[in-house]
Amino acid sequence: MKISLINHGCAKNLVDAELILGILSENGYEITLNEQDADVVIVNTCSFIHDAEKESVQSILQMIEAGKKVIISGCLSQKHNDDLKSAIPEIAGMIGTSNLQDIIKIIKNIEDKGDYKSFIQEKPEYIYPEKTTRQQITMGASSYLKIGEGCNYQCGYCIIPKLRGKYISRPIENIVKEANELADKGVTEIILIAQDTSSYGIDLYGKQELPRLLEELNKIENLSWIRIMYAYPTQMTEELMNAIAHLDKVVKYVDIPLQHSHPRILKEMKRPVMDYTELVQKIREKIPGVTVRTSLIVGYPGETEEEFEHLYQFVKDVKFDRMGVFEYSREKNTYSYGLKPQIPAKIKKQRRNKLMELQQKISLEHNEKYINTDLKCIVEGYTDDGVIILRSEHDAPEIDGVVYANSNRQVVPGDIETVRIEKADEYDLFGKITD
Ligand code: SF4
Repeated sequence: MKISLINHGCAKNLVDAELILGILSENGYEITLNEQDADVVIVNTCSFIHDAEKESVQSILQMIEAGKKVIISGCLSQKHNDDLKSAIPEIAGMIGTSNLQDIIKIIKNIEDKGDYKSFIQEKPEYIYPEKTTRQQITMGASSYLKIGEGCNYQCGYCIIPKLRGKYISRPIENIVKEANELADKGVTEIILIAQDTSSYGIDLYGKQELPRLLEELNKIENLSWIRIMYAYPTQMTEELMNAIAHLDKVVKYVDIPLQHSHPRILKEMKRPVMDYTELVQKIREKIPGVTVRTSLIVGYPGETEEEFEHLYQFVKDVKFDRMGVFEYSREKNTYSYGLKPQIPAKIKKQRRNKLMELQQKISLEHNEKYINTDLKCIVEGYTDDGVIILRSEHDAPEIDGVVYANSNRQVVPGDIETVRIEKADEYDLFGKITD
């Protein structure tokens, strides 16, 4: 029996997909990367917002139509449980977000031609399968590394704590061991992920231990870069800022989703109400040369024109180096679902466009600062025309820009090279690898 997997959603889901494949191959199952070639296809789904759910459902239907036995894992199965089976009766089995190991029971059941089966823990409690070696789908110079799962916050728009449970940190020694294994395989950049990386350790060690984890990871010789994603504002402690500033392998990059600036909206979002301008200023002071990325939500229920203008002015003043803007998506079972008034789609779109237009100018200004300077960049690959694609420490994979460069010599993916920047646009940089 050949098994394939289609993954949807975020990097955390990608790691779970790779763990599921690892569990399958440890149990002797044959994996194929081509789903058309498989008898069974696992669709690892995303349920963060409605559009993501739609994409996952499309995959499920396509695979059923192609005559595959389809198993659902990830957030959609956790959210809808057996209701999903009622809506799509052809589904052969389901596992919840903290039932990765149960995939084997589902597969065996299919082999035995048993009826539909599901393993979905009602209250998810994600324990990382430490003994499993991930089977990486996208093996490159950079690799995600999950340091915890779940979330203890209750943001008004977010369903994640319901789908992923409380925050559970992995022990430091296990993360360091995995980082060493990745480095031995040729990974030069590791990207630490969790729903909220900055709260790492509180559940396990009684205090924030991300700085200690960074110190340990910094000792791994073959690693070049360590990147942290998804920090929570109140956990951006001085100790953490110092660790980022002083550890040489930790890239000077802070990804801190702030979501809004107006105190009333932040309160309604159940997010920390604090002066974010001051916070970003402090980050910039403590970590020289830092790149600050944030993400924002526009059109949260009740957001008035004045409150949006507050956010606009905030973006204009702070000048984030990198920024993503999302239109609020109304999700059932969240606090904000029942809030009134909901903002019309047209206004949400207008507000997003307005912020993005502003950010493009800011981003161009930031990028132009790099012209005629040398940047350390990681080699990612080549374009079809043979131009080298690299990424600087100021950019995270998939969400930020890249650096295109020519070179007089051969370069190897994963290596760190120095690029002399000659040109910039809003997103990307262009230059030449120095000899
Ligand atoms: S911090 Fe907020 S937005 Fe992020 S996962 Fe937790 S509840 Fe959701």
